[in-house]
Amino acid sequence: MFASQLESLTELAARKPALKDICCFHTDLYRLWQTTPAFVQLNQDPTMISRRQHEGFPLISGMMLEIDRVKAAHFVGELLALMATHGQQGQNEIQRLQQSLEAGQLHLSQLLVAALDRNRQPICEKAAELEIQAALLEYCLTLTLSGALPQCRAQAQIQIFENWQQGYCPFCGGLPSIATLSGEEGKKTLHCSLCGCDWEFQRLTCIHCGNTDHETLAYFTAEGEPGYRVDICRKCCGYLKVVDNRQQQTDLLLDVADIASLPLDFLAAKEGFSRGKKENPDHAKGH
Ligand SMILES: [Zn+2]
Ligand SMILES: [Zn+2]
Repeated sequence: MFASQLESLTELAARKPALKDICCFHTDLYRLWQTTPAFVQLNQDPTMISRRQHEGFPLISGMMLEIDRVKAAHFVGELLALMATHGQQGQNEIQRLQQSLEAGQLHLSQLLVAALDRNRQPICEKAAELEIQAALLEYCLTLTLSGALPQCRAQAQIQIFENWQQGYCPFCGGLPSIATLSGEEGKKTLHCSLCGCDWEFQRLTCIHCGNTDHETLAYFTAEGEPGYRVDICRKCCGYLKVVDNRQQQTDLLLDVADIASLPLDFLAAKEGFSRGKKENPDHAKGH
């Protein structure tokens, strides 16, 4: 899987030169994920897990993360170095994050828990303290979780609740980055951006707000992006990119397909739609 991921990124960079930089960054990022020793473990309470699932909550929450602080700090140090080397936007801000990390003031465990729980307050506070954009800190935390959670999911060996009807991931609560449509009936499968879990979802329902009104649900396609479409909801202004496997068999792994279809994210943002920052499901349900 890892080798084919790198191969598809190289092929994508050759096919779409505008995406070359982002492909190079992700190639290095995948290598980093691959070579970093595990820094997050789950402390699992089977009773709590099964209760959470039956109540419609994702299986894990921030309080179940056991984070090895030294290893996590090492990973984030490498990640920030990568972002600096690749000349990503906000070099001064990246530097301030590096300084805070080196001074032991970043409080990574607390921030990673907040990122998983989609509790933005501690993240915004830290960002304000460091005079950086909260989105940048959130981005780093998300990339860190994305490096750790797939392994946790593989090791957890917990049966994912089959009848999951939510637009967020049944394992970690992450939002899907992309979906696929397949088969004659156009079965829709969502792909979690954080842990890589896939789950089936109703085709004509907004993943962000649950809207099923076909008057306010629509989709658009773009020239030069065959096989992809963007489902939009005019009620909550959320969107979701979709690979239509019925139109074109894209062999790309979904994480790479997400990168390949970046121009669609720009288009959607330009039209005022967002990938969504859905509230923490625990909060949304009044817990
Ligand atoms: Zn997930
Ligand atoms: Zn919606």
